[in-house]
Amino acid sequence: MIKKDTVVSLNYNLTNDSGEQLDTTEGKDPFKYLHGVGQIVPGLEKALEGALVGDKKQVTVSPEEGYGTLNEQLKMEVNRSNFPGDAELKPGLQFMADVGEGRQHMFTITKVENDAVHVDGNHPLAGQTLNFSVEVMEVRDATAEELQHGHAHGEGGHQH
Ligand code: ZN
Repeated sequence: MIKKDTVVSLNYNLTNDSGEQLDTTEGKDPFKYLHGVGQIVPGLEKALEGALVGDKKQVTVSPEEGYGTLNEQLKMEVNRSNFPGDAELKPGLQFMADVGEGRQHMFTITKVENDAVHVDGNHPLAGQTLNFSVEVMEVRDATAEELQHGHAHGEGGHQH
């Protein structure tokens, strides 16, 4: 049964409300994660609590319990001079930036116009309702090493 500190293998298909496929494990190894530590979005983690191997679930996750709501203040324009001179700036490039008080935040470049670099600090799936279709493939207790690292090891998890 899925509970805190178990390692869970899932097959899933993720679509948004327009029916667009955002992610899937189809044709790949099942996705493996450590349950109860926030490795997956809160809404899905909550819905899977107590599920058994073989269970199939349809889970709808609101932006609040998914990747967050869209924050317009995280969309901004910065001057090219803020980047290292040798950086190849192009849409899709992601980087970490200091947002004050020693906190780092991930931004994605959305557009480059001469010296103006448009960046967006929202998660690419922010503001989207997530529709997961999941099947629980395997559940086992986490190893001491996995608990220490805060993630699952092995195929479909972290390889190191
Ligand atoms: Zn590890």
